[in-house]
Amino acid sequence: MDFEYGIIGGGPAGYTAGINLASQGHSVVLFEKEYLGGTCMNKGCIPTKSFLHCAEEYARIKNASEIGLEVEIKKFDFSKVIEKKNKTVEKIRKALELSVKNSGIKVVYSNACIKDKNTILADAQSYSVGKIIAACGSKPKEIKGLEFDGKFILSSDDVLELDHLPKSALIIGSGAIGTEWARIYSSFGVEITVVELAEHLIPSADIEVSKRIERIYKQKGIKFYLNDCVEKIEGKTVFLKSGVVINPEIILVATGRTPVCPALEGIDILGDSAGEILLAHYAIHQAKEYSTGIPFKKDFTPSVIYGEPEIAWVGLREQDVDESYTKTMLPITALGKSWCDDATDGFIKIITKDDFIYGAHIVSKEASALIHTLLLVMQQKISLEKLKEICFAHPTYSEGIFDIICRIKN
Ligand SMILES: Cc1cc2nc3c(=O)[nH]c(=O)nc-3n(C[C@H](O)[C@H](O)[C@H](O)COP(=O)(O)OP(=O)(O)OC[C@H]3O[C@@H](n4cnc5c(N)ncnc54)[C@H](O)[C@@H]3O)c2cc1C
Repeated sequence: MDFEYGIIGGGPAGYTAGINLASQGHSVVLFEKEYLGGTCMNKGCIPTKSFLHCAEEYARIKNASEIGLEVEIKKFDFSKVIEKKNKTVEKIRKALELSVKNSGIKVVYSNACIKDKNTILADAQSYSVGKIIAACGSKPKEIKGLEFDGKFILSSDDVLELDHLPKSALIIGSGAIGTEWARIYSSFGVEITVVELAEHLIPSADIEVSKRIERIYKQKGIKFYLNDCVEKIEGKTVFLKSGVVINPEIILVATGRTPVCPALEGIDILGDSAGEILLAHYAIHQAKEYSTGIPFKKDFTPSVIYGEPEIAWVGLREQDVDESYTKTMLPITALGKSWCDDATDGFIKIITKDDFIYGAHIVSKEASALIHTLLLVMQQKISLEKLKEICFAHPTYSEGIFDIICRIKN
């Protein structure tokens, strides 16, 4: 046996498992056909948030006259946005490469194939391993009639490669990826239309979150069509089932991702490959549990959608519960900080029963940070009475948590 563990895929699942196993003294070989960091670092979480940051800065400067700052924008060079994204990715990836190297893992940059449950073929070599871990990730889901061509019909990978801002974009699907790109492009002034097959935007969210985002889209001039889909495309003209006709410069298909999973008994599968919850933090914690035995509770995996305002949730949604649960809502306008920040659109909503929180849904600036306090409370079963003993700082968005629990009516 050459190595105790052979890991295929250097994304969050693969590198987390690898680093932990190596730190326990196991010999590990990791195969990566592209870049360490996987989709998350190179094509997903990190590059999109870098774009989003630039888009939000752009929108802020354009609206600077609201605070008395008259700015004349002479030029906008989109290549700098791409450059910033590339530099961000490279910096973070270099740090990861170093920690993988320091952990003692042998990295083979090559496409790996599984020959049998103890043999991996890569780089014209055969590696004999005690255990194979497949952490091969996932790929953008293609739908019939909307096959990616990299020019007009784009995947979430292709859109990162565009060297210019389109004038208009049609986004198919309003999950996390579609919603983030709708917000990135819209902040840059791109004309956006979203088409969603379900009854509401962000179908996996609490119904009131979806409805609030629909209201925000209307205010921002982002068009959307619900219960709708593309019927046909002629040239660059898109015909929706509802009869609407659109002529976008590009189409971004964001209808989900398909796990890449070698079907073979006797190997272990982690991360997106396993097809459970396709999120980087899920992949990381699943791999951590696998490699260290530290458990994590899958039901308490938070979801975050970035942009202004952020959207975050964990646990039960309104549509999941009956009347025995209590729903309480706090408008973000109740918080002084939101007025200071000009970020008053949103709410904190909790679903409670018998002195405990079972669901938390936030549309607000800093929702991505705020959700973790509620997550902690929920997972550690901290009662509402105990939570009331916590002193929250003022003025913050966090004090909304104290405020909302004081409003619960049973
Ligand atoms: C646009 C976008 C935005 C996202 N934003 C977020 C976010 O904000 N937050 C979040 O939690 N998640 C986000 N995700 C999801 C997140 O990127 C994935 O859940 C995460 O990367 C999964 O990690 P993984 O290790 O399972 O797979 P991956 O990160 O996909 O890594 C798999 C790796 O395996 C390699 N590989 C595959 N097959 C082979 C082979 N045969 N040989 C060698 N190497 C191979 C691939 O090259 C890849 O590097 C986003 C995804 C996208 C597309």
